[in-house]
Amino acid sequence: MITSDIQLAADELSRGGLVAFPTETVYGLGADALDEDAVRQAFALKGRPAHNPLIVHVSSTEMASRLVRNWSENAERIASRFWPGPLTMVLPKADRVPSVVTGGGDTVAIRMPDHDLARSLIESFGGPLVGPSANRSGTISPTTAAHVEDSLGPDILVLDGGPCPRGIESTVIRLTEAGAEILRPGVIGSDELAEIVPVIHSEHELTANAPLPSPGMLKKHYAPRTPTRLVDDLGELPGQAVVVCISEPPASSRAIRMPSDASSYAARLYAALREADELAPEVILIERPPGIGPIWDAVRDRLSRASAQN
Ligand code: AMP
Ligand code: MG
Repeated sequence: MITSDIQLAADELSRGGLVAFPTETVYGLGADALDEDAVRQAFALKGRPAHNPLIVHVSSTEMASRLVRNWSENAERIASRFWPGPLTMVLPKADRVPSVVTGGGDTVAIRMPDHDLARSLIESFGGPLVGPSANRSGTISPTTAAHVEDSLGPDILVLDGGPCPRGIESTVIRLTEAGAEILRPGVIGSDELAEIVPVIHSEHELTANAPLPSPGMLKKHYAPRTPTRLVDDLGELPGQAVVVCISEPPASSRAIRMPSDASSYAARLYAALREADELAPEVILIERPPGIGPIWDAVRDRLSRASAQN
């Protein structure tokens, strides 16, 4: 059920239930982060593997500091620069954070969303919420309330905040005394981070066989049902394809045109992939966007996972 009633949503969370809520990145599937049973329900509804930890959403740095063993100087600096915003910090967890939240590990991922409804919901509920993307695991993340219902069914309560302005998931960093290591690319890139803390470049490339520094960085993710390929030019397209492209598509093809600036492309991406899927072609061909900068890097990260073979 789609609602705009924050109190109704907060009450559902207080009963140990689940509520999908809007953020600036994608819609999250909210549950009381300190209630093990509620968190387990979120995993179950998503079909999410238990080793893939969740991001805990807070409405203040004070709330964040009570979830970690030690709120470091680096954490404070990152928070004052980037929160509220699409930046998630991974830090050693406090004992009160159930290990089901962290995939069994001893670190917890935390962020403060840059979305009034999200923070109001956390405030009304009165505590931190887990917020994995509100979709079945592995599929396209939801950027509207209707997307959430399409993926999780009509029974889930969805707090409607309209389309998500950023459209792709947060940058995830592991934060230590030494600095920040990017585990998942997002709109906040290494240059911006480096103005605040040293950025550590991991020796592990996030490729198929390297150990996963972030357990959720699965090679295939964000994927349409239809087989999806990244292509470098739109020269010869199979007739049964739908093409997702910035440049002029061949006259005969079914195409979804994308904006050419990075922010608008990212905001539109997941809705475009859903539309392409609904046309039920044999294949979805995505023109690889050539742009430079952190948002394009994050977009290409999602596109390569959307088009990965199993
Ligand atoms: P999602 O909920 O779909 O936005 O995915 C959350 C992302 O954060 C996944 O890539 C997780 O692997 C990552 N993440 C969450 N908690 C941790 C953690 N403690 N250490 C490393 N990565 C984490
Ligand atoms: Mg997700």
